[in-house]
Amino acid sequence: MKLALDIGGTYVRWEVVGVARGKEAVGSMDIQKFVSQLIRRYKIRALGISFAGQVHHGRILSAPNVHASFDPAAFGIPYIIENDLNCAVLAEARYCESSHIAALYSGTGLGAGVIDEGRLVRGFRDLATEIGHIPYRQAPFRCGCGKDNCIELYASGSGIHRWAKYLGLKPSLQEPKIKVLYQEALATAAATLLALFNPKLLILGGGVILANPDVLQWLKENLSHYAPPFSLEGCELRRSELQEASLEGAKILLERLP
Ligand SMILES: [Zn+2]
Repeated sequence: MKLALDIGGTYVRWEVVGVARGKEAVGSMDIQKFVSQLIRRYKIRALGISFAGQVHHGRILSAPNVHASFDPAAFGIPYIIENDLNCAVLAEARYCESSHIAALYSGTGLGAGVIDEGRLVRGFRDLATEIGHIPYRQAPFRCGCGKDNCIELYASGSGIHRWAKYLGLKPSLQEPKIKVLYQEALATAAATLLALFNPKLLILGGGVILANPDVLQWLKENLSHYAPPFSLEGCELRRSELQEASLEGAKILLERLP
């Protein structure tokens, strides 16, 4: 049996492919122990892992949003691990049958994955398209990566919570001040992706986007103030229709393992 995992900042989602699936809150859980229990219970012989952090050659380089240690090599079975947004865009590309596609997800963090001419845009250490950590504006607190000017500090669920605490407001996009901070940053991130990668399809997803449908509508109406007109031409914005894109992407990884 094969196990697909999506290890995020808030939840661990898992599927023993075609057999069983579940979702656990990360909280203070021991992810290593939890996965090793699944491996034993279902006699797992291969792992496909979507991970909310920076991953290169099967190793986790850093994980600003996952507050638990995880080492897939320690299980002693074949595995493939990939950044969660790379997994998400693999799943979105297959679902939309697109070979020029970018996914921008605003959940706990802000992330992107890009497929150009059918191939993932990777960079030499697999660190390309880290949109959440581009320099934006100085904030009164620091990002998980150590900087204090990342766009993720504005256009993510964790950013919403930090600004709400700082301003003494509710952590909600119903708060006008927070909504403006969030929307401007999200539009800047989307425009940056369009300007740099010229996707034909830009998929918006992640917990914050999916819980606030009016954000996508606002973005559609206002993106022309942020993105160059030539990048917008012929490009379609769509809300993700996949329930668990990163987990679906982890299952795609498993197709490469026997
Ligand atoms: Zn950062």
